[in-house]
Amino acid sequence: TLAAVDVSAWFGQRKVLDRVSLTMGAGEVTALIGPSGCGKSTFLRILNRMHELVPAASLAGSVLLDGQDIYEPGRRITETRRRIGMVFQKPNPFPAMSIADNVTAGLKLTGTSVSRAERESLVEECLTRAGLWKEVRDRLRQPGGALSGGQQQRLCIARSLAVRPDVLLMDEPCSALDPTSTRRVEETIADLRTEVTIVIVTHNMQQAARVSQHCAFFLAEDGTPGHIVEQGRTSTVFSDPVDPRTADYVNGRF
Ligand code: ATP
Ligand code: MG
Repeated sequence: TLAAVDVSAWFGQRKVLDRVSLTMGAGEVTALIGPSGCGKSTFLRILNRMHELVPAASLAGSVLLDGQDIYEPGRRITETRRRIGMVFQKPNPFPAMSIADNVTAGLKLTGTSVSRAERESLVEECLTRAGLWKEVRDRLRQPGGALSGGQQQRLCIARSLAVRPDVLLMDEPCSALDPTSTRRVEETIADLRTEVTIVIVTHNMQQAARVSQHCAFFLAEDGTPGHIVEQGRTSTVFSDPVDPRTADYVNGRF
């Protein structure tokens, strides 16, 4: 379980998130929805300390992974990023590297050494879990850049899985993909749900309804910092929301 507790964030003097608290349960997919600029990507990056790469970004509050604060002094950032993986909007495999080597590329970063046989079985396992194995099993030595966009995105998911994360953060993972590839990635998400805690940012309400069990609606109105207006079971947020702004947003009246 990953839990944000009273997370606020600033870029320089400007506050962009205000006291966001959200528990992202194991075995669940949590969808983050809301209009452009409301802080969804910023929040996602805070969940694995990626926002520290932005100069002038600052933070209050805490993020607990299985009860341990990832921002506690002395906690190793590489271990945090291994346990909490990220998949981006634009698929970003290493284009010149082979498909197989792309899958295991993260192992070097985490300092994990594996035998050749272990690598081969890990490549097959992760590509299978990412729903890509059947399509690439005969071309594992081809470069990652030779795959279609949707295949590249599933390759990136396979690469994330190779370091055995507890959590997978996905920032609009399908918005650069065609409908068929989108479906494949959604199937992959559904298959992974019981093994990995998944948090997905999406602008596609049908997608949020299809893939998630929990949902949080973010809003930054009239220059106020982004905050959660409503969260709960996805079916409730979509069909019986408490806040009229949630109803407007999920029904496309925003
Ligand atoms: P979108 O749906 O368009 O991706 P978002 O909800 O992901 O939007 P963020 O990218 O998190 O929104 O941005 C939240 C706010 O923080 C915005 O006002 C944005 O301009 C600001 N912001 C984001 N990144 C930076 C940065 N590196 N430096 C300064 N301000 C930033
Ligand atoms: Mg974003």
